[in-house]
Amino acid sequence: MRYSNSEKIYEKAVKIIPGGVNSPVRAFKSVDKTYPIFVNRGKGSKIYDEDGNEYIDYICSWGPLILGHNNERVLKGVREAIELGSSFGLPTKMEVELAELVCKCYPSMDMIRFTTSGTEATMAAVRVARAFTNRNKILKFEGCYHGHSDSLLVSSGSGLLTDGYQDSNGITEGVLKDTLVAPFGNIQKVKEILETKEVACLIMEPVPANMGLINSSKEFLQAMRDICDETGTLLIFDEVISGFRVALGGAQEYYGITPDITTLGKIIGGGYPVGAFGGKKEIMDMIAPVGRVYHAGTLSGNPVAVRAGFEMVSHLLENRETLYKELEEKVIYMTDSIEKIAKKYDVPIKINKLGSLFTIFFSDLDEITDLEHVINSNTTHYSIYFNTLLDNGVVAPPSKYEAHFVSVAHTKEDLDRTLEVIDMAFKKIGET
Ligand code: PMP
Repeated sequence: MRYSNSEKIYEKAVKIIPGGVNSPVRAFKSVDKTYPIFVNRGKGSKIYDEDGNEYIDYICSWGPLILGHNNERVLKGVREAIELGSSFGLPTKMEVELAELVCKCYPSMDMIRFTTSGTEATMAAVRVARAFTNRNKILKFEGCYHGHSDSLLVSSGSGLLTDGYQDSNGITEGVLKDTLVAPFGNIQKVKEILETKEVACLIMEPVPANMGLINSSKEFLQAMRDICDETGTLLIFDEVISGFRVALGGAQEYYGITPDITTLGKIIGGGYPVGAFGGKKEIMDMIAPVGRVYHAGTLSGNPVAVRAGFEMVSHLLENRETLYKELEEKVIYMTDSIEKIAKKYDVPIKINKLGSLFTIFFSDLDEITDLEHVINSNTTHYSIYFNTLLDNGVVAPPSKYEAHFVSVAHTKEDLDRTLEVIDMAFKKIGET
């Protein structure tokens, strides 16, 4: 049986780990599978499961692996760092070097603080925004995901949407009432809410990628910037996914809009646990030990993780002229070809894409611009798509609410093989 070792591991896992996974997006529930594949190793564009099956990977650890699995430069840096020790609870030079490098790529950040995850970065960013403005409420968009801190698990995207709900249980009413929500793209609603002048910050994915990829625009982001300025609200761009991916300087560089605070994760850790938040000096000076907004972490700025991030970001910076263009060309090649295949089998789809990200929505709408559209897209077709790919050696995201991630390591041969398999999947969908 193709997946028998994964199945055996899952049988043990599910008895001891809720759902058998340490993050719900790893379960294959919404694509009609009882258990996920358990991964043994990865190299370049490929991963290998515990049954020895090889897959072309479009999850790429949900974003960090823009250079592919086990990139040689990152691996060499990590090996060197490991030899020096694992963690000291004291500062190291590499934290400062990564800080300088990241701030150079993000001129909106005078200062930066490292965390161990994107969740911690957004949680701390919201806390500092509350302290800076002396306001309690925050505003977020429906279907955007900002990690799993209490304040941000409201009308959330990613794994919650996949599992069919949007608000987590276990959050106090007090916290819930302080998180306000607007539909993405609705300028009027944002205006109404922020004009109360009770809101500390608008936290947003400048390019939403946790309800599938949703297109953003300079005009919309500029409107958010203007309303925040008019109402004394801080604008937080959560660039945990878009940072170093849609451009070296993230969506803020791509669209030319400057936030007050930026949160980062994924790519800045090179596949190891690193997150970060940063912004103007006067805001960052509120953080302990300079100010009294507490943020800490035993493993924050972990020496091995920041070295991995340093190597990855250095590579991106050194190759920025060609690298982002090449990634975008790969996605255009893929998505143009997928559209042709869909036409051939009369399968209604709409693809949203930006840089090295894309999502295929099985929908006959002309445009997918909000959460409702995504919820109404065809889940059964997505499931057939996912499963046909998996059975033929390609891993797509196991949810219609996520994006495909393309890496530098994906070759033309990988893309063509993927298209062959997508052809099989769409043929099946066309026959249903
Ligand atoms: N913000 C965004 C936009 C994310 O996509 C994610 C995770 N996918 C997070 C925050 C949380 O990051 P982490 O999973 O590292 O806690």
